Amino acid sequence: MPNEMTDGFHLVIEAMKLNGLDTIFGVVGIPVTDLARLAQAEGIRYIGFRHEQSAGHAAAIAGYLTQKPGVCLTVSAPGFLNGMVALANATINGFPMIQISGSSDRAIVDLQQGDYEELDQMNAAKPYAKAAYRVNRPADIGISIARSIRAALSGRPGGVYLDLPADVLSASLDADAAARSLVRVVDPVPRQIPAPQALERALDLLAQAQRPLIILGKGAAYAQADADIREFIEKTAVPFLPMSMAKGLLPDDHPQSAAAARSYALAQADVVMLIGARLNWLLGHGKSPQWSAAARFIQIDIAPTEIDSNRPIAAPVVGDIASSMAALLAMLKPGRIKPDSLWLREIDQRRQRNAERMRERLAANPSPMDFYSALGAIARVLEDKPDVYLVNEGANTLDIARNVIDMRAPRKRLDCGTWGVMGIGMGFAIGAATISGKPVVAIEGDSAFGFSGMEIETICRYQLPIVVVIFNNGGVYRGDDVNRGGGADPAPTVLMKQAHYEKLIEAFGGAGYQVTDPQALATTLAAALASGKPALINCVIDPTAGTESGHIGNLNPQSAIAFRN
Ligand code: ADP
Ligand code: MG
Repeated sequence: MPNEMTDGFHLVIEAMKLNGLDTIFGVVGIPVTDLARLAQAEGIRYIGFRHEQSAGHAAAIAGYLTQKPGVCLTVSAPGFLNGMVALANATINGFPMIQISGSSDRAIVDLQQGDYEELDQMNAAKPYAKAAYRVNRPADIGISIARSIRAALSGRPGGVYLDLPADVLSASLDADAAARSLVRVVDPVPRQIPAPQALERALDLLAQAQRPLIILGKGAAYAQADADIREFIEKTAVPFLPMSMAKGLLPDDHPQSAAAARSYALAQADVVMLIGARLNWLLGHGKSPQWSAAARFIQIDIAPTEIDSNRPIAAPVVGDIASSMAALLAMLKPGRIKPDSLWLREIDQRRQRNAERMRERLAANPSPMDFYSALGAIARVLEDKPDVYLVNEGANTLDIARNVIDMRAPRKRLDCGTWGVMGIGMGFAIGAATISGKPVVAIEGDSAFGFSGMEIETICRYQLPIVVVIFNNGGVYRGDDVNRGGGADPAPTVLMKQAHYEKLIEAFGGAGYQVTDPQALATTLAAALASGKPALINCVIDPTAGTESGHIGNLNPQSAIAFRN
């Protein structure tokens, strides 16, 4: 009697199911269409996108939110490359994801004989991925999924590329042998317990501090050690500063938050404890003038090579944040850590002064709206809805929203991250909405929205509870620049004046609105959120309101030659 047979397609799906990978974000085509069909038939959720970059961003953010690698499925060569921006972004940000891509005939690809969608994808992926693998025999599919999961999740999480050539997918093999080749990954994220001496050294240093400061990064948010982190901060009374995606880990209105006194806190702190945050450009590389040259640092991180990457770290703690915080709490003796009361008072006074200034800015009601008045209206709507995910990209739209909109729950703010990449908007929104079922508000610069705008069809097709708010100031940074050559073409930063973005979503049956004042914005947003249906609000902003490059104008090289007006 001939044995029962199976094929590569089935094995991939079986391997995913065995390891709890229950969602695929992708774009189908040759040779992966049947893989998506089969996934759906076998109970894996398949979310089909219009562009692979958005599918990849959705997978990456799903990985960040769930601590399970998000899976992105792409077709060969161009589809694969479209997904690579998201895979690279995931790797840079430490989001666990696996990009699975079909590929063309290896024999032809390797001799460069001109196959349909010919590309050596595994080698192309390598520099941008945490790991890149290719399966050459169907019997290796099980082990390849296991390796991909471990590589994506262990240590600092990241993006993994898995290449599945068409002939491996369609190859048939004995069903019993196939079943035996599957691997269930045991303990994919092993705890990494820090050394007791390292913890003691860290607590010692913190105890010597007069002006201590704790910085929470998105590694701390990812670790899901929320209760222990909060307890440690409250018990030590040390002021904390959240990095963008760590906002909400402790509520932004927590009395120990130094966010509204950021520059002062950075410049004056004498001992700084980094929890899952890198001293990269977002923190001025830990150097003066932003930081005191005499400050000493404690760094808790899972990646040993992150230590001393930008400035010397006096007390490194290498381990996972959940284990590290639990151990630190257990070792903490009452009264051992004691910030100077002057320090706390000074931070508090600045915080109140800056909050007062912000209240004034938000209360102003200019017509047309500026970023502050519009964001103030959104902040008021979201105040009592901590469960709403906030996706945010743009320049001024990003920088100002980060300061204006308080977060009250962990892992709810999803934004451009370490690279400051544009194009995450709709992918992150769809990823968050599909894995959580919770509502999402995506606050998008008009330029930023353009990078993933076609995905509003995806949002409508799956009827996701996403409200897209476009801050339409008619341009990149601002909408009022002129052609310095005097010609009829618009200036490089200028986009269409009076663009009616709300009409785009109407084409797919979603609800489109245009608003020109804060009150209308608030009412419309509240109603759109309550509907639980896809909506897009075209929010008309003063074209002269933005500044070039938002808050990072210092990184924008400017020509010294006098063509500027
Ligand atoms: P942010 O931009 O918010 O400052 P970064 O992405 O720069 O955050 O830094 C996050 C850091 O957190 C990375 O260095 C990463 O290695 C670390 N990290 C991520 N997950 C964990 C974890 N579970 N335990 C310890 N460190 C982690
Ligand atoms: Mg704009």
